[in-house]
Amino acid sequence: MDARRLEQNQTVTASTCIFGAGAAGIVLALELEKKGKSVCLLESGGHFLEPAIQSLYEGEVTGTPYNLAGSRLRYLGGSTNHWSGQCLPLAEDDFTSKEWIAGSGWPFGARTLQPFYEAASSVLGLSEEPESSAESEALHSLRLPGFQTDKIRSRPLRLGEHFRKELEKSLLITLYLYANHKAFRFDNDRVREAEARNDQGALFTVRADHYILATGGIENARILLDQERMQQKIPDKSGLLGRRFMEHYHSPLAILLSRQNSPFQRFQQADSMYYVLSERTDRLGFFAPELALRESAQTANFRIQLGHPGAFDSPLSEFEADLLTTLPAWENEATAPEHNNSSPKIKKFLLYSIVEQSPDHRSRITLSDRVDRHGRPQVHLHWYMNDLDKHTLRESISLFGRSVALSGHGRIRFLHEKEVYVMGGMHHMGTTCMHRSPGQGVVDENLRVHGLTNLYVAGSSVFPTVGHANPTLTILALCLRLVDHLSRVGDG
Ligand SMILES: Cc1cc2nc3c(=O)[nH]c(=O)nc-3n(C[C@H](O)[C@H](O)[C@H](O)COP(=O)(O)OP(=O)(O)OC[C@H]3O[C@@H](n4cnc5c(N)ncnc54)[C@H](O)[C@@H]3O)c2cc1C
Repeated sequence: MDARRLEQNQTVTASTCIFGAGAAGIVLALELEKKGKSVCLLESGGHFLEPAIQSLYEGEVTGTPYNLAGSRLRYLGGSTNHWSGQCLPLAEDDFTSKEWIAGSGWPFGARTLQPFYEAASSVLGLSEEPESSAESEALHSLRLPGFQTDKIRSRPLRLGEHFRKELEKSLLITLYLYANHKAFRFDNDRVREAEARNDQGALFTVRADHYILATGGIENARILLDQERMQQKIPDKSGLLGRRFMEHYHSPLAILLSRQNSPFQRFQQADSMYYVLSERTDRLGFFAPELALRESAQTANFRIQLGHPGAFDSPLSEFEADLLTTLPAWENEATAPEHNNSSPKIKKFLLYSIVEQSPDHRSRITLSDRVDRHGRPQVHLHWYMNDLDKHTLRESISLFGRSVALSGHGRIRFLHEKEVYVMGGMHHMGTTCMHRSPGQGVVDENLRVHGLTNLYVAGSSVFPTVGHANPTLTILALCLRLVDHLSRVGDG
């Protein structure tokens, strides 16, 4: 349904009202339908990218540079319209609190999410095929001290396109396109109704038993912060609404020179960027530090992925050849006449560190003085990298390099300072963080906004700590858990 056809001041009703039809909103709606619930699903965009609607994502940035409008998409399917589909659950210890990382830990353990991770994998159609013998061999032959080798499953499913027909033919879900959140109206601790506006400015009202914000990791906070302007402030006792914005730092930091017959040489080119473990292009290999190593080095979590050497794919420099000959066993390989990257002897990889940002109240979203074309304040992101983040970035590559050297499989060469850059993974997390206590989180362990009985938040904005795993599989697991919760608490 096109919300531009709705008349001014019309009221629509449903059991659940969801704002945002990206990964979270679509999966929530379809799962609620399975439980026999009626759903009103309101999406700001249409079926395709429209520059005027996309411009609603623009905002101001201070601190580390960030592309606010370019790191998300505002139409049916949301940012999954250009995601890479890399899926990985959080590690078991990502859920636990660590004394060297302030604010870390989830209100429940990995086991609570396990069944929902499995269900989320099947929603995304991720391969359940067991490892092939080549994969297991590659995984097990690469034993690096202090590191685990594992794989990321990948399927870049465009959720909007994929589920469009299912949403349109549903008798219980009504999808409104060009429908924007405007405000929640409260009766004491309950949302009484939500006000929405179509893209031409006409207002309409949604009445439901439950309301879910699923507008992405930045907009969820923006919308709740903007409630104050509507004189309907969110009762945020923690003061954390909009704070603790987290990303996964992505940074190419070193070149790996892998020696002849090293198991690294089993890695195969997957796409223009990464290498995979074996012939399976939907499974990217990676290396992640064990908890004991992180504890002794006092770092947050991270993983290392092998990438294409690109500009660094030149014959070995004198410096590199020198580096290799420092170990006598390398002498023949490094001094062989064909010692370049096309040689079977020494193969180069670019090493990417993908690093967990730690929760820090200085990294945050506030509302800007500028307004968007609907007259709502734009976001102001202050992306702040603290000392622990810098330490983890540095240590990620030193620890890995040490481990590679100890294993005898290769050597690493740090990139020069001017070759290094740090960017986000376009994962927006932490701005409505989850905690059992209203004094320490914006939503509770069931994603309900503290202090309100029927308003929930879905998406990576609820993550208290973020590990190194790409967020969408965890977002969907949390959505499936939320549906389970809502079906138990019932309506009204
Ligand atoms: C280039 C790129 C690559 C990525 N690769 C990966 C990857 O490999 N693996 C991974 O796990 N993640 C990846 N991500 C992140 C992934 O896309 C997000 O985690 C995921 O889409 C988040 O789902 P969501 O539903 O919370 O938000 P979104 O998918 O962003 O959906 C939010 C929806 O809300 C709508 N909306 C916004 N504001 C309003 C409003 N006011 N009223 C009504 N509707 C509104 C938007 O139009 C949108 O449809 C990638 C992201 C990008 C940009």
